[in-house]
Amino acid sequence: MKPTHKTMLEADFLLTNAGRLATVAEHPAPPLEGPLGVLRNGALAARNGRIVWIGAQDEVAQAVNLVADAQRLDAANALVLPGFVDSHTHLVFAGHRAGEFHERLRGATYAELLAQGRGILTTVGATRAASAADLETSARQRMARCLAHGATTLEAKSGYGLNLADELKCLQVIAALRDGPPRLASTCMAAHAIPPEYRADRAAYVRLVCDEILPAARPLADFCDVFCESGAFDAAESRTILERARDLGYKLKLHANQLGHSGGATLAAELNAVSADHLDFITDADRAALRSAGVVATLLPGCAYTLRHAYPDGRRWLDAGLNIALATDLNPGSSYTENMQFVIGLAIPFCGLTVAEALRAATRGGAQALQLDTEIGSLEVGKRCDLTIWDTTDEHEIGYHVGVNLVKRVVVDGAVAL
Ligand SMILES: [Zn+2]
Repeated sequence: MKPTHKTMLEADFLLTNAGRLATVAEHPAPPLEGPLGVLRNGALAARNGRIVWIGAQDEVAQAVNLVADAQRLDAANALVLPGFVDSHTHLVFAGHRAGEFHERLRGATYAELLAQGRGILTTVGATRAASAADLETSARQRMARCLAHGATTLEAKSGYGLNLADELKCLQVIAALRDGPPRLASTCMAAHAIPPEYRADRAAYVRLVCDEILPAARPLADFCDVFCESGAFDAAESRTILERARDLGYKLKLHANQLGHSGGATLAAELNAVSADHLDFITDADRAALRSAGVVATLLPGCAYTLRHAYPDGRRWLDAGLNIALATDLNPGSSYTENMQFVIGLAIPFCGLTVAEALRAATRGGAQALQLDTEIGSLEVGKRCDLTIWDTTDEHEIGYHVGVNLVKRVVVDGAVAL
């Protein structure tokens, strides 16, 4: 029996002719195919920004009733994916560090530059000197590049202010940009480095973070992140800050074990952090602890590229049962890219991920790393309608056809953003 008009779904957005619509559903069942839950010759409808229907192209007329001013997009048989969720960016900063990049190519190390008061601290100086308006302008330009390359949600960290006023300035910039597109999740990372004025009294800076910055920043940020690393914050300092953050209601993230065995991975597991990011130096015991604590492990291969370090072994993480995300770590020092396609292009050959694993980590995995996976990260009825239409019919071209932008159209919240 044909459904009557009354049973048809009202929609204000309709995508038709998706040659391969990769849903990235958690447990794909027929007619969805393969690990990405691909629907062939699919269509999708949304209302008020949420997906209301996904089905076969030849069922659209029976299933969907478009409102008068509905937006329609014809995918022309192309690949359609959920928008990328870039769960780790340092979006707000001033200046750049191209000079240091080239110095490192001639032999200087990231840790040496940081010890000389350069590295992150170069960007801290520039960011403190910048006005909120200038920071907002440059962050907005980066957001536009992220969107153009397929990201529909970004996490954005503070962490180049390193005092109360400048951390709040950066978090207020993030708040002003929050509705996007792309939409933003906000993280206070006042514990990114010890600022130069506290080098002789690290404990005083940890107190400042705990007693002043974290309480004041709470209305502006969902997450607290700490750089747990030799040269930044040791495991005991990181614990003090993260426990205080947890008491204030922040969700927790860690930059852990990027440059060595910092103890950050163990701490992330112990404190049930939402994610632990980098993890270039981890043991079997770390992997087991992160898995049993349900911590999402975030792969940031852009750093290995920029710093010419060994790539993190994503294959081993997956084989150990870890839930993984893949993100850019967009920042001016160790990974200056807005392009999720680039990090996917690194993760497949150098971190040992399959195309499907990399795309899952860049969508659903990123959403899990932000605890937003009930809302975004896959194309399923009830979720936000965030998707990308590609200049290819086959997801296997991603990570293989590299150095160009294969994203053609971007939809955020059921509205064509690009
Ligand atoms: Zn980072």
